[in-house]
Amino acid sequence: MPMRADEIYPWLMEASEGSGMDPFDVHVCASILAMGLGESAVEGVSVCKLVGLDGNSLRCLIEGMFPGVAGQFDETFKPCALTIDAEEQSLRDILWMYASSHGPLHRDLTAMIARRCIRPHHLWQDLGFRNRGELSRLMTRHFSLLAAKNRGDMKWKKFLYRMVCGTEGFTFCAAPVCSDCDDFALCFGAEDGESLLAQANFAQAATV
Ligand code: SF4
Repeated sequence: MPMRADEIYPWLMEASEGSGMDPFDVHVCASILAMGLGESAVEGVSVCKLVGLDGNSLRCLIEGMFPGVAGQFDETFKPCALTIDAEEQSLRDILWMYASSHGPLHRDLTAMIARRCIRPHHLWQDLGFRNRGELSRLMTRHFSLLAAKNRGDMKWKKFLYRMVCGTEGFTFCAAPVCSDCDDFALCFGAEDGESLLAQANFAQAATV
């Protein structure tokens, strides 16, 4: 297996041949898994913990979407169990509540998006996408009711936490309404930046 995220992505895409899965969905999952595998090589953390899928869920995803690498699942993905804290569970609950369907793909997307919210960059960057538009497309496609609620085009991670704030009694927000909040610019400002996956030296850069 290649070690860098930007090399792992095409390796996974090639492994998806014959899966019959939708190309955009394959791209989404390959991007997230490439980020997780690339970070795993650098940080020494199991990819399960980095993408939020336990061993069984990850195995099913690989077998169904990336059959070309399913034969080397254990040695490549090193499956393990997960611990999910209350904050992450709330993110999962919000995503699942508004998922457009409740099959295995939406279950996995819910888990992976919630786990990647923990990472420090814009959510689209930590999902390994090429641009923010891909995350908007994913949300519209698979979490359409939730996407429709983001009428102000809030940054996606901020929006998900705001939804948790409104339903679970968490207090991530500094004010009851956005228009009165000093953090308004942080939540609604531009969500731009470079694609982390596209950075050819991602793995090496992360070590210095
Ligand atoms: S602008 Fe303030 S109230 Fe609105 S989501 Fe951001 S932190 Fe919360």
